[in-house]
Amino acid sequence: MNWRGDIHIDHVTPPEANILRALGVPNGHAVNSRTRDAVAAGLEELRTIAEPSGVFASVDRSHFADIYEGDGDNAVPSPLAEIFPRADELALFAVTLGTPVSERIAALFTSREYALGAALDAAASEAAELTATHVTDTVLAKLRHAGRATAETRALEYSPGYCGWSLTGQRALFAALEPGRIGITLTNSCLMEPVKSVSGVVVIGPAGIHDFNDDYGFCTDCATHDCRDRIRRISELNT
Ligand code: SF4
Repeated sequence: MNWRGDIHIDHVTPPEANILRALGVPNGHAVNSRTRDAVAAGLEELRTIAEPSGVFASVDRSHFADIYEGDGDNAVPSPLAEIFPRADELALFAVTLGTPVSERIAALFTSREYALGAALDAAASEAAELTATHVTDTVLAKLRHAGRATAETRALEYSPGYCGWSLTGQRALFAALEPGRIGITLTNSCLMEPVKSVSGVVVIGPAGIHDFNDDYGFCTDCATHDCRDRIRRISELNT
């Protein structure tokens, strides 16, 4: 199963509350008019210049084992190493918001328009995550349509650079998926260009395979522990 295409901005426009949270404003906190105006302007720019697109391709477990091994830099043990062998299906994916958004953010900071630059940067980061989620939902919908997933099947994405999967894993992932097809390239330090891009693997199977304790060695350095939210939400996702 392979797919590549554009994604409508309406599917990946983040709510204002998410942008404010990304800017460090907790839910329910009062927001001054300057910040609110900057967020509104950032959202408008995002919707005008973003070019969301994505690509995914099914991969079998043994091939993904090689991709996951990558340059041999992963933490041992790690959640994904324990989860992916229990998956029903796996799909490599990459998404991007395109070059113009990243160029515009850089230009805003260069011209010292910090409020708008920060708002657009936060909006684009949120939109990139929503684009990854949209592609994950698309993978699952296509598998269900093909009779390869049930109503109970769930899908969740994992990315190099997080939770023990080394960022250098991008090299093997890029070699297998070739996201250059949608304009994403990899720098020597394994960062993606355009910056507002996300890549990884969508793991498809029963919700329970994604459950794990956040007590790996690297978890002590984790500021967010957002795997707890992901695990909580997985039973509601993709339905
Ligand atoms: S605590 Fe942080 S590093 Fe550990 S698995 Fe959860 S999200 Fe990943």
